Amino acid sequence: MKIAIVGGGVFGLAAAWRLAIRGHAVEVLEADHIPARKAASRDISKAFRGGYGVATPEYAPGVARARELWRDLETQTGRAIYHETGCLQICTRFDPGDFEREGFEALRGMGWPVNWLETEEIAQRYPAFRLHEVVGAVMDSWGGWIDPMQALPALAEAAEALGGRVRTSRPVSHLGDVDADLVVVCAGAWLARVVPSLVSSVRTTRQHEAFYRPLSLGDCATLPAWSLDMGTEGWYGFPASFDGVVKVARHLPDVDGNPDGGREADAEQAGIVRAFVADRLPELAQAPDEGGTCFYTMSRDGSFLFDRAPGSDRVFIAGCGGGHAFKFGPMLGEWAADLVEGRPLPAGFGLRDKGSERVV
Ligand SMILES: Cc1cc2nc3c(=O)[nH]c(=O)nc-3n(C[C@H](O)[C@H](O)[C@H](O)COP(=O)(O)OP(=O)(O)OC[C@H]3O[C@@H](n4cnc5c(N)ncnc54)[C@H](O)[C@@H]3O)c2cc1C
Repeated sequence: MKIAIVGGGVFGLAAAWRLAIRGHAVEVLEADHIPARKAASRDISKAFRGGYGVATPEYAPGVARARELWRDLETQTGRAIYHETGCLQICTRFDPGDFEREGFEALRGMGWPVNWLETEEIAQRYPAFRLHEVVGAVMDSWGGWIDPMQALPALAEAAEALGGRVRTSRPVSHLGDVDADLVVVCAGAWLARVVPSLVSSVRTTRQHEAFYRPLSLGDCATLPAWSLDMGTEGWYGFPASFDGVVKVARHLPDVDGNPDGGREADAEQAGIVRAFVADRLPELAQAPDEGGTCFYTMSRDGSFLFDRAPGSDRVFIAGCGGGHAFKFGPMLGEWAADLVEGRPLPAGFGLRDKGSERVV
């Protein structure tokens, strides 16, 4: 089967790899370069963790599958993609119903390597943090971060090694012009531009990220991937990148934005992140920082969207997952391949399922 994929972000390239493995003739049509300048997939790091609050039983198996597949991809391509630093989920509450508590209990029940750290132990192991009001942290030992600047070319290379083609500077304006038996639209924040009937099903939200460049890492040298009150405050961050950049960001589900807009920092958000860093990571606050904007693509309930495009026999859509899809990358490729091959997908990720809010 000849299958075209519109968009060369993590969804599109992972779909290309899996469809090529299954023997299809795949061609990715990417409007820009890979990674594209405005793509959500372009970044220095993406968090990898199994805990998803009450939704953990739904998501953690997919994270575990993605972990295996990222490792396979590393072996195949020789690229370093998945950095298993652990993911430290710091919290100021740990009661039943809280995001970290529900994730911890569910992961433990699944045999996932998670343990609870008391505040004194966090202070000893990770002295960069100021831990006032903190009651402890969940350490997810399989957690860490994915390097998108390695993961994206690796997915493209693996697809190409199987005969797939990855074309850049190929914007698709009309799906009817695409020469393929089937088309999978993985256009991220531009999904509804390519498939206009999705306009009321997806939206994009502006997100702020801060990049600190300390002259010396000091105590920040021991930072793992981390979050702080993820379910309520949404703070998260990463170890220093290979060139010494420390990223801190906040999950902001509700600020709508236009993905064609500039990527410059939002001054108000930059101020909020600086105040947080001064309070929680004071050593880092001394370093010069630079901010940037990125866009989450949200379905109505915040989770992935995999379906046939409304009214079409040959067009499929794969995307959304807002601020958390990257870690699943190669698993999303399996789902995309299952979708076009007519195999069943887990319930809850089609257009008709998007009625209620999901906790992610
Ligand atoms: C600030 C931020 C932080 C995040 N942090 C994390 C995290 O820590 N962990 C995690 O797991 N996930 C994270 N995510 C989520 C994750 O990055 C996204 O869910 C994922 O990258 C979306 O991938 P995509 O392929 O759908 O979209 P994109 O990466 O945006 O790719 C879509 C591609 O389609 C192309 N395109 C658009 N229109 C056309 C067209 N007409 N023709 C051809 N090509 C077209 C675009 O150029 C682009 O390359 C974060 C996202 C953001 C924005």
